[in-house]
Amino acid sequence: MKRNSTPFIYHPIYSDLVLPPRHRYPIGKYRALQQWAVRHGAKPEQWLTAQPLNWDKVATVHCRNYIRRLQNNDFTKAEWRRIGFPWSQQLLTRTLTSAGGTLQTVEVALQQQLAIHFSGGYHHAHYDWGSGFCLINDLAIAARHAVDNLGLSSVLIFDTDVHQGDGTATLFSNESRIITCSIHSQKNFPFNKAQSDIDVGVADDISEADYLQTVFDTLESAINRFQPQLVLYDAGVDIYQRDDLGKLGISLAGIYQRDLQVLGLLQQRQIATAVVIGGGYQRQLDRLVTAHGQLLRAAHHLFSA
Ligand SMILES: [Zn+2]
Repeated sequence: MKRNSTPFIYHPIYSDLVLPPRHRYPIGKYRALQQWAVRHGAKPEQWLTAQPLNWDKVATVHCRNYIRRLQNNDFTKAEWRRIGFPWSQQLLTRTLTSAGGTLQTVEVALQQQLAIHFSGGYHHAHYDWGSGFCLINDLAIAARHAVDNLGLSSVLIFDTDVHQGDGTATLFSNESRIITCSIHSQKNFPFNKAQSDIDVGVADDISEADYLQTVFDTLESAINRFQPQLVLYDAGVDIYQRDDLGKLGISLAGIYQRDLQVLGLLQQRQIATAVVIGGGYQRQLDRLVTAHGQLLRAAHHLFSA
């Protein structure tokens, strides 16, 4: 199916969060990517503004007591250290908005086949604990919404961020309608891996050709086996050879090829695809945004008339 433009879901709050100086989280990348997209021809009508979730929606996947403690800044120092952000009201609002954006991306993707969220992929958030910059699991909330409220019976979460989607895996270990699949660096964080429905832990010295073949084969076999009506695709770019937290050696061209083959296969099978940009931690912002931009290039190549 060819269309003129892919819907982009975004909110300025994604980059507005104030963090301590030299904090390793690249908070500026969301706005920089939005500006990159505009410079590369995104039209005003493509943009949709993300809407924050309410806490009841968060409770569809997270523990009520965890939510209360998060709202009240009632975590221990060790818990905050594991999360990696300092508490603020702004952090809560940003987190709810980002999760709302992923849910909205799912709804739009079901109508228009493809939608891209300029945030999302907080896959290290578990039922009652957060970790690795993740407080609430947007992928999980959106997938649960799709099966509980939108009538879907098979949803695939296809996660190619360099880190395993451990929170998503544990949240859905007993949910047969939601299939979790993670392709990640076996030796990277989280060091205690969870069990997804499909896990592919790759070696850090995997060749680019083998990595790309692995991604394609894993997605194709998951589609054939589970016949998903919707795929949530985490297109994290911390697989990039210049990433500060990743350990793989994938080039910029490799990121483009990965996204092109994932989106291409899903387009060919006519499966609705909701994409989140996921991780990417290179400190050099221009390079980081160029890496995330490969996703937009791939979508443009496939979906523009
Ligand atoms: Zn990551």
